[in-house]
Amino acid sequence: MARYTGPSCRLCRREGQKLFLKGERCYSGKCAMEKRSYAPGQHGQGRKKSSDYGLQLREKQKAKRFYGLQETQFRNLFEKAAAKKGITGENLLIMLETRLDNVVFRMGLASSRKEARQLVTHGHFTVNGKKADIPSMQLKAGDVVAVKEKSTSSPKFKEIKEMTISTPAWVTIDTQKLEGKVLSMPTREQIDTPVAEHLIVELYSK
Ligand code: SF4
Repeated sequence: MARYTGPSCRLCRREGQKLFLKGERCYSGKCAMEKRSYAPGQHGQGRKKSSDYGLQLREKQKAKRFYGLQETQFRNLFEKAAAKKGITGENLLIMLETRLDNVVFRMGLASSRKEARQLVTHGHFTVNGKKADIPSMQLKAGDVVAVKEKSTSSPKFKEIKEMTISTPAWVTIDTQKLEGKVLSMPTREQIDTPVAEHLIVELYSK
């Protein structure tokens, strides 16, 4: 299935929640959810009553959009999460969080997951000193993500050197070196994604 290329804000309005897809704009008064927090379309403001299936589907769509995955990628990741030991929903969220594009975003090296994915595919990063240009690459505790030497002089990364960035406790970033580390695998409590993952498990377990 092709990647969605329509307006990002429409996705937030559809999910009734900020998904933070547009970087700085999401934190400003220009955010569409501040002005029109109802679903898009002619019946967007109408009363909605969802079935169990509808709720499960919305939760899956929300998670998929939050991390910018396509249906097949998301489903495949779910299968891998289900095959692991532990709670499937938590495994899924941890695997989504530890994708390279998300880690780059969490380290503050990109303003959104979309930008992070683009920077990764354009080859601006290394993982443990080796070229890493696959956004879905799974990282583990101890992995070091760095901006490639050649890319450090770009305006984007020069700007980051001047910034103070706060990261989740499971990653760290040295803005001067443009280098970050995955300190540990995130726990469910450390993941602030507004998703009820058990509904996704219920949906896929039908
Ligand atoms: Fe969503 Fe960001 Fe658009 Fe707000 S500005 S609606 S959070 S993508």
